[in-house]
Amino acid sequence: MPARRLFRLAVVCSFFAVAPVQGEVLVLRNFTLIDGTGKAPIAQSAMVVDNGRIAWIGPVSQLKPPSGAETADLTGKFVMPGLIDLHVHLGATVDMVQDAKNQTLENLQQNLKTYASYGVTTVMSMGTDPDLIFKIRDEQRAGRPSVARVYTAGQGFVFKNGYGGLVGVNSQVSTVSEIEPAVAAQAAKKVDFIKFWMDDDQGTFPKMPYEISQAIIQSAHRHGLRVLAHIFYLADAKKLTEQGISGFVHSVRDAPVDQALIDAMKKHGVWQESATLSREESMFAYGKTPEFIADPFFVRGVSPATIRLLSSPERQKTIASSPLYGRYPSFFEMAKKNFKKLVDAGIRYGMGTDTGPPGRFAGYGDHWELQAMVDAGLTPMQAIVAATKSGAEFLGAKDLGTLEKSKWADLVVLNANPMENILNTRAISAVYIAGKPIH
Ligand SMILES: [Zn+2]
Repeated sequence: MPARRLFRLAVVCSFFAVAPVQGEVLVLRNFTLIDGTGKAPIAQSAMVVDNGRIAWIGPVSQLKPPSGAETADLTGKFVMPGLIDLHVHLGATVDMVQDAKNQTLENLQQNLKTYASYGVTTVMSMGTDPDLIFKIRDEQRAGRPSVARVYTAGQGFVFKNGYGGLVGVNSQVSTVSEIEPAVAAQAAKKVDFIKFWMDDDQGTFPKMPYEISQAIIQSAHRHGLRVLAHIFYLADAKKLTEQGISGFVHSVRDAPVDQALIDAMKKHGVWQESATLSREESMFAYGKTPEFIADPFFVRGVSPATIRLLSSPERQKTIASSPLYGRYPSFFEMAKKNFKKLVDAGIRYGMGTDTGPPGRFAGYGDHWELQAMVDAGLTPMQAIVAATKSGAEFLGAKDLGTLEKSKWADLVVLNANPMENILNTRAISAVYIAGKPIH
């Protein structure tokens, strides 16, 4: 290095040593705080965010704003943690067509941006990811992301020719001996969870045998990974609970959950990780033009081609004439009833939408899910805690989920109180991830 440049570098370094550059500091004040812990909202709150993390949070009367900090006066607004969606599928759907070829870096990032713009600041992607996802995730974790933070189950396990996955990215398995190397391959990529599908879609596909699910769970545990399962049937929920599953990513939908399942889930600490109620409703929502098609909150997140398809009478007719169409409303009702029963029994639960596939919209689907959870009988507070604190706890994300000192400032600013009406989670004024506003 030329001596002159070395000298200049030394001057710069010594300048930093003497007067370190002030961290980027943001002050939010005069809002009502919904901190995600389940505590009642606190009016006249304030927060100091330093380099993306909450440095101080408390009553505005005790705020000592650091000099030179950027300040936002949020009088009349409500601040809650960013939503955590524990069940998404990223990047594969463009204009209502799902194809693994769509999972480019650009589409994945765009999808994560859409979630963020709807106040969803963390997502758990459920077993349909290309390897690109690890690069996105690892870069995010090394810095301060400007799109939704991603957790991933990599490529989930589908029984050969069975139900689930995404053509092009799933790991199909048919024998027990294939399992250990397949799980080891996912573990080597540092997946956050292992996922598999156990369903026959009403007898349409072969279902994964229990010796395969057992092998997946045991192998994952050897690699220190928790396992999540797509289920439909009560009998499978019971069997998988015995086998060591950590959570179910849908509600039981064939029969009412019973005390035996509740007791077993409690004993083994099994979560209803996501109930995906909005998914069940979306299965029959498009047999006619959905009411929300003109809602600007919906329209802003989708393409004109999507709107045209949802309005197409031909498409609606095709959907309404599908063989299972008439049964979906009863699956939806069963999903809600079972979810509420598990919640009341003290089973842990998060919020998850299964958004991503055609007709299940990133971001909009999250607010639909919160509404469906309240329709199922939860309070708005229960729905919000599920979608914030509980979601982070399930992920083991210690820095996320609540608005408390030292956590990341991932938050949503609302113009109306979501405790009074869950639909007010849609009154989004601003979204911050790691203290930076999302545009
Ligand atoms: Zn799913």
